[in-house]
Amino acid sequence: MATSTCAACDYPLDDNRISVKIGGKTVEVCCEECAQKLREAQAAGNG
Ligand SMILES: [Zn+2]
Repeated sequence: MATSTCAACDYPLDDNRISVKIGGKTVEVCCEECAQKLREAQAAGNG
C-alpha cells in the first residue's frame, strides 16, 4: 500500500503527477504550481 502524496502539499497524487528533481533527489508533486514551489524553496535554501 504505497500511497504517494505531493511533496509540497501532501495531496494524494493522481495521473497528473509531476516529477521534479530537487537537490539530486526526484520527488513527485500534484501540479506544476507545487513543482515551482519546491524549486523556489530549493533555490532559496541552498543558495
Ligand atoms: Zn501539491
